[in-house]
Amino acid sequence: MPKGKKGTKVEKVKIEYWKAADETGSPQEFAKQLVPKYHSHLATAKICYLFRTKARTRGPKVILGTASRMNSRLQALADYDFIIEIGYDEWKELNATQKQALLDHELCHCGGEENEHTGEMKWRILPHDLEEFRDIVKRYGFWRSDIKEFVDSVPAKPSAVKPVNVSSEKNQPPPPDGIENVEDILQTQ
Ligand SMILES: [Zn+2]
Repeated sequence: MPKGKKGTKVEKVKIEYWKAADETGSPQEFAKQLVPKYHSHLATAKICYLFRTKARTRGPKVILGTASRMNSRLQALADYDFIIEIGYDEWKELNATQKQALLDHELCHCGGEENEHTGEMKWRILPHDLEEFRDIVKRYGFWRSDIKEFVDSVPAKPSAVKPVNVSSEKNQPPPPDGIENVEDILQTQ
């Protein structure tokens, strides 16, 4: 068992992964309506929606979801372009609008450009529009133009808060056994 900083025992919880079943209230159901509306370049993208038992953390922050691009090695094993991974413990606590926003966010990470000669799509992971600390904005305000652009884009009344038409909310079944941990071989955002 690994030891914590002060020699205390830290229990390692085994993280399980499973593919989200395509059913009412699933990530797929949100995505099916979000892709044609806001992410039309993803119309042909093969996206795997993966749950993990517990959301990732980065320092004190809980990461609700991550988006990763499948590299060619992984594509030889599974026919997907992207993996959208969601912490199931957090997902089941979100309301429909929050679930939609999370999916919409992860789909924003999934970029793609069409090769004008072959028509083939080249996929990539896009970074956030803004990466900044609150303290820096407090001290320096709009010191870079992207901070102002970000703030200026906040509408007085958000236009897309109405949840997409998801029939009813239902929890996904508990995780099955035997799905491998893929976190170390994927680049995530
Ligand atoms: Zn993100």
